[in-house]
Amino acid sequence: MNKDVDLLAKHLTPNARVTVLTGAGVSAASGVPTFRGADGLWKQHRPEQLATPEAFARDPRLVWEWYDWRRQRIAACRPNGAHEVLASWSERYTNFTLITQNVDGLHERAGTHHVLRMHGSIWEVACWTRCAASPLRWQDETVPLPVIPPRCSYCDGLIRPGVVWFGEAIDPGILTRCHEATRCDVFLTVGTSAVVYPAASLVQEALMRGAFTAEINLEATPASSLVDHALHGPAEIILAEVDERLGLLRGSGSR
Ligand code: NAD
Ligand code: ZN
Repeated sequence: MNKDVDLLAKHLTPNARVTVLTGAGVSAASGVPTFRGADGLWKQHRPEQLATPEAFARDPRLVWEWYDWRRQRIAACRPNGAHEVLASWSERYTNFTLITQNVDGLHERAGTHHVLRMHGSIWEVACWTRCAASPLRWQDETVPLPVIPPRCSYCDGLIRPGVVWFGEAIDPGILTRCHEATRCDVFLTVGTSAVVYPAASLVQEALMRGAFTAEINLEATPASSLVDHALHGPAEIILAEVDERLGLLRGSGSR
């Protein structure tokens, strides 16, 4: 058995408080492009140029065309082995929190409990002007959208995707719960480039609070030198190996 996998599995004892932070890499094997990957570009636009309030104010049609394209791609994807392992851990561990920067909803589709969505959901929308009659956000899973840009059914103005764009604040209630979840025994960061604040700072916070910290990513990231243990490889394979090891440990009665 791979020693790296073994070390992580040994910290995942049955009563451990486990917090997992995921990023786009966890959905890569499902076919959802990461922002920094080769197919993250759409019609030569960089995500950073489209996922901002300024871009939307300038050209709502362009931004919605991109979201409509992403929603269509995601709708055709299924959760992969990484989502499935994490979903099973969310049932197995009494104290389990999954924090995700992803907006694709694949953790929820895999059946994960206690998901904290830092960046909202691509399957939700909100009124652009936050008109008084409309709720803060609402579900809209129509794929493809019949009219672009879509209109608010309350005021007939524009609606926007229910995601947190670059330069926007994360819901303070969610952020508080994310910080609380760094009080844990094992903090695992999976498939995130670990450069986007505040997600990146959560690892540091968990470390300071005494958690065993580990990273799973295809390549080294700024978090690699901070964590107790960095495992490099595809999340869907490494998580499956860790889970298999957990099964063996449980079976051997050694925990
Ligand atoms: P990112 O695109 O910046 O980085 C993806 C990371 O995943 C990289 O470090 C890469 O090495 C790693 N990776 C790729 N394939 C992997 C695999 N199979 N196993 C393990 N690691 C793998 O994404 P980010 O760090 O999540 O941050 C960018 C922002 O983009 C986030 O805020 C997020 O909201 C948004 N985003 C979301 C989705 C989604 O919902 N699926 C997709 C793209 C971007
Ligand atoms: Zn409205």
